[in-house]
Amino acid sequence: MTGELILIVENLKKYYMLRGSLLQTLGLSPPTYVKAVDGISFTVNKGEIFCLVGESGCGKTTTGKVIARLLEPTSGKILYKPSQTARGVLEAFNYRDEYIDIAKEYSKEVDKALRREIQMVFQDPFSSLNPRMKIRDILEEPLIIHKIGRDRMERLELITKALEEVKLVPAQEFLDRYPHMLSGGQRQRVAIARALILGPSLIVADEPVSMLDVSIRAEILQLMLEIRKSKNISYVFITHDLAVASNICDKIAVMYLGKIVEMGETLKVVNNPLHPYTKALMQAVPEPDPRNRLKFRKLDIKGEVPSAINIPPGCRFHPRCPYAMDVCKREEPLLIDVEKGHSVSCWLYMRK
Ligand code: SF4
Repeated sequence: MTGELILIVENLKKYYMLRGSLLQTLGLSPPTYVKAVDGISFTVNKGEIFCLVGESGCGKTTTGKVIARLLEPTSGKILYKPSQTARGVLEAFNYRDEYIDIAKEYSKEVDKALRREIQMVFQDPFSSLNPRMKIRDILEEPLIIHKIGRDRMERLELITKALEEVKLVPAQEFLDRYPHMLSGGQRQRVAIARALILGPSLIVADEPVSMLDVSIRAEILQLMLEIRKSKNISYVFITHDLAVASNICDKIAVMYLGKIVEMGETLKVVNNPLHPYTKALMQAVPEPDPRNRLKFRKLDIKGEVPSAINIPPGCRFHPRCPYAMDVCKREEPLLIDVEKGHSVSCWLYMRK
């Protein structure tokens, strides 16, 4: 991993407007929004695995889809450093800066070059692969769209190489199979091969192991680590499972109701969680060693996650937080550094 920044996300927001009352439709009262992502900032280095962790509905998948350019953001910047391959296309269209804001709209050619750079692996390999297509066709489709490979033979070579990279060997045995003829782990390997075949610099992996058997998870995580090492690819890895995150990620950002509440190097966050919500997530991780079960004091987190339509004022975690103070109900804490490589947004640390 190098210290070269490949992705800089600045104050990213994604709001969805709700179809409201007649007054709202007529523009006589303000519209209501679901604030799925509500102003988050983070950076990803070249070759780094950056994890977004949190419960369902915290905005992590929406963030991933916005980065992969599957959703348009409401506001904010996503600065991406293109590879040499994409730079050629971008320069032809007069984009010569070191970073390009991928949150903006571009011409079809530029858009295509950027899509090739950032690929996504989805959670469910059962629905992300077309059941009517053979594996060879699933992997050939992106090559045809991006005009890679002069003819069928050359594309077949690339497909075989991609299957070998994800350890589906001998590749010839998999080429003419349909997705239903593969196990869950093999399907997720095909999904990873489909992402790899275009030679991306960044992969957004949305819960890539959560639908797999426990025995297969470790193999897929190991495969992703090996690919990172051999190709120096960066990942934005999305998971609800802190145990998975602590095994694979270099940096972790914990999200709650559309905001990052704690962020830092994995070892710092896992060994010394600061935000009460992160502490509660850590307690939910099964710990086989009874001595370590006492490592974190049990926190009494109340209730359910509030709706993203009615976000509580002040600290959005205050209705559930056992340490909530008056200031927490009035003012939202900023994400501040408590030490190098570890930041938190909580009034308990703002006062120190
Ligand atoms: Fe709890 Fe207040 Fe910290 Fe929010 S700011 S997590 S309510 S102590």
